[in-house]
Amino acid sequence: MLKTEYVTMNEASPDPEVIRRAGQIIKEGGLVAFPTETVYGLGGDALNPASSRKIYAAKGRPSDNPLIVHVCRLEDIELIVSEIPPEAEKLAEAFWPGPLTMIFKKSDLVPKETTGGLDTVAVRFPSNRIAQALIDASGGFIAAPSANRSGRPSPTVAKYCMEDLDGRVEMIIDGGEVGIGLESTIIDLTEGSPVILRPGFVNRKMLEEVLGNVEVDSTLITPDSGIAPKAPGMKYRHYAPRGELVIIEGERDKVVEEVNKAAARNAELGLKTGVICTDETEELYRADSVKSAGRRSDELSVARSLFRILREFDDEQVDRIYSESFGGGNLGRAIMNRLMKAAGHRLVHLGRGEKLQD
Ligand code: AMP
Ligand code: MG
Repeated sequence: MLKTEYVTMNEASPDPEVIRRAGQIIKEGGLVAFPTETVYGLGGDALNPASSRKIYAAKGRPSDNPLIVHVCRLEDIELIVSEIPPEAEKLAEAFWPGPLTMIFKKSDLVPKETTGGLDTVAVRFPSNRIAQALIDASGGFIAAPSANRSGRPSPTVAKYCMEDLDGRVEMIIDGGEVGIGLESTIIDLTEGSPVILRPGFVNRKMLEEVLGNVEVDSTLITPDSGIAPKAPGMKYRHYAPRGELVIIEGERDKVVEEVNKAAARNAELGLKTGVICTDETEELYRADSVKSAGRRSDELSVARSLFRILREFDDEQVDRIYSESFGGGNLGRAIMNRLMKAAGHRLVHLGRGEKLQD
């Protein structure tokens, strides 16, 4: 077991001495968890195959699920990709640094260990200043998936990195709560027309304003289509809380009524019930643990709260979780995408006469 050093840092003024040391750890093949604007990342040297193998081992992640390479300068991208399509330049200008990942054809410099065996590489330029400083101090290329054990919700605060990775990484940098709370949007630029592989803060409309028409990967539209997902990570179980999660769609009062009835039935069975709701409905539920993700109109609050709430239900050993559904808006698709994965796609439409099971 490694001894994990835990350091706290303010994004407004990253401590140069600690950053230098953290960079040295990565240069020497070690791992550092660090904040980004989306979720916390688990970083290693993207150009060192041994580092990537360590990342997979620390996460317990299947090694065909590729990592995202993080850079801190636009010009560095030329070293790790074999071709920069014109769309990438437009997107970089509009959204980088920021929560957008682009897929390129990779150069020989990037080992297959980092890309899960693929000839393509995912690249992101994060806006978080601690992340930027660390990437620079590490030699310019950090491979970083989310800093959680595989299958668990992505960490939005450093405490959860510690929970999952204590003894598995050399250092954890606590930079406070992240701003967005959902992983980056992923867009594939290697196939002719651009395709969204994972929805995120940068949504389809924003991308289309820059590029014109942008497709959405068909496995995102119909998750049960049986088509193999283009982003290998999408086929794995994600974010799953230990309790069984079901999303309830329908008219507000009906949702509250059905959830309260289910909570009462669960109580009789000796099962603990959790509810994911919004400020507008929090007072209406009667269950063991009722958690608001924020005001319904405040999508950023909902996005930032979601993974934290799923982890809190684990801590509270909740057996059954019911969540209101979140659609529309700018972040709606990204929030629902994560929630659906966490729920294993269990969704009940009350309006269609479906019912919550006992
Ligand atoms: P994470 O960093 O934990 O959010 O996971 C990275 C995600 O990016 C995974 O779902 C991968 O499947 C996806 N990804 C990384 N590299 C590629 C690539 N070359 N092609 C398609 N998807 C990728
Ligand atoms: Mg992840």
